[in-house]
Amino acid sequence: MLAENYHQIKATIEKAACKVGRNPREIKLIAVTKSASLEDTQKAAELGIKNFGVNRVQEETAKVESLPGVNWHFIGHLQRNKVKYIMPLYAMVQTLDRLSLARELQRWAEKNEREIDVLIQVNISGEDSKFGLAPQEVSSFLDQAQSFKRLNIKGLMAMAAFVDDPEEARLYFRQLRQLRDENVSKGLALPELSMGMTNDYAVAIEEGATMVRVGRALFGWK
Ligand SMILES: *Cc1c(COP(=O)(O)O)cnc(C)c1O
Repeated sequence: MLAENYHQIKATIEKAACKVGRNPREIKLIAVTKSASLEDTQKAAELGIKNFGVNRVQEETAKVESLPGVNWHFIGHLQRNKVKYIMPLYAMVQTLDRLSLARELQRWAEKNEREIDVLIQVNISGEDSKFGLAPQEVSSFLDQAQSFKRLNIKGLMAMAAFVDDPEEARLYFRQLRQLRDENVSKGLALPELSMGMTNDYAVAIEEGATMVRVGRALFGWK
């Protein structure tokens, strides 16, 4: 079941990439573990999945510690007092959305004598229920965040609005890409665009996603 789902997702990624002339290898699948069991998470790694996404800190630590050989991405809302648990275990934090969090990440990166990759979370749909910077705040945030030398800012992350038709998410993905391109033209390197989930990752790839975060389609929960 898991293997079948994985092959299906790989085929969808390939098809979406080819449709717009992109190399499918540019696109990383982030397997979102949420309610997946430890066993299924390990099976996914055995299938060759290299990147996993987690949205809660303590609840997922057993999974993270059981698989040190893959890259763990934090994709949930991150409280400052949880940063100390993140730093020894995770490759990337995809949800940097405020300077106070950047400061805490810098502080714990120093203590752990490491650097950490981060993405800036953008609230592209403008919904109150979503975390992230407003699009118009991103440019000045990027300027200020340059002073945190242990944070490697790799790009932007967003969630589209919840819509029935994935085509309706296209506009949000396009906006995130444009926002990235605007800031790249000011001289920043922002190669990564993390956007697209089970419902809409094919559309996100057509619009330039380099990371798609897929849970349900892989692990099969409802
Ligand atoms: C749950 C979650 C996903 C995966 O959603 P699915 O619909 O299960 O693919 C992706 N990104 C974030 C931030 C999530 O919380």
